[in-house]
Amino acid sequence: MPLPRGLPVVDHHCHLSPSGDGVRAAERFRAAGGTHLFVATQNYGPNVPRSVEEYRRQFETTEALAKRVGDETSVVAYSVLAPYPVDLIAAERLLGLEAAVELQEQALDLAGRWIRERRAVALGEVGRPHFEVPEAIRGAATRVFRHALEVARDVGCPVVVHSADLDEAGLRELAAEAASAGVAPAKVVKHYARAPIGPSSSSGIARSYLARRETVHGVLHEPAPWFLETDYLDDPARPGAVLDLATVPRRAKQIAEAPGGSPDRLWVPFSESIEKVYGWRPEVDAGGAP
Ligand SMILES: [Zn+2]
Repeated sequence: MPLPRGLPVVDHHCHLSPSGDGVRAAERFRAAGGTHLFVATQNYGPNVPRSVEEYRRQFETTEALAKRVGDETSVVAYSVLAPYPVDLIAAERLLGLEAAVELQEQALDLAGRWIRERRAVALGEVGRPHFEVPEAIRGAATRVFRHALEVARDVGCPVVVHSADLDEAGLRELAAEAASAGVAPAKVVKHYARAPIGPSSSSGIARSYLARRETVHGVLHEPAPWFLETDYLDDPARPGAVLDLATVPRRAKQIAEAPGGSPDRLWVPFSESIEKVYGWRPEVDAGGAP
């Protein structure tokens, strides 16, 4: 079976870099049948930003790349902005802990303003390092995450969370942490999710699943909200380190073409879940449908 008519094909989390494949990667995504990309910002230089001005330039780079993708391919690209939580570790060495926390908070405020101005659609990635760090750093990251949640609450936008893998208890804790800051769990996305939740509860947290074949088959019948992503890194120094940007449309086609497949389930990650979490549906114009 072909993909359902009018279905958007959405990679919910990738990175593009001006020094990587950039727009060419988006062309590969398009050629494979992709229509919409959520482009998360990243640190584009060799060093972490040391001032809010440097974060502003970083966000401008993401915005410019997303715009070029839209102008030069027919893929719609949305920016997702925040200071990367792992930046805190290097920033602490350069600036000291208090100044590093303050910098992250100011960068979050800046990202929040851009989202209010509709220059970006979500706050992300925010959260905590996914590996062991000294207690002081972990505590500081938790304070910064709390600030991120407060910005999301004030702006009314989704938050895309970077963290270690979360099991049922971890998702429950995250939902409680969000709720205590006034953010509904349905506005919180655990990015780089790898294990289907199965019969356990997600506590209302949306999952953005890595589009590996086994994972996609394991989650296809989960109720919304969940997404598919590659977390494509666009780093020429690490080819093949992550899934290629063409992966989500390829998986979508495999699901549609499998005997006894359930192509209609693809509306869940590509449309229904976006409406649930973001409040709007990505549109596919008549001539642009794959
Ligand atoms: Zn990422």
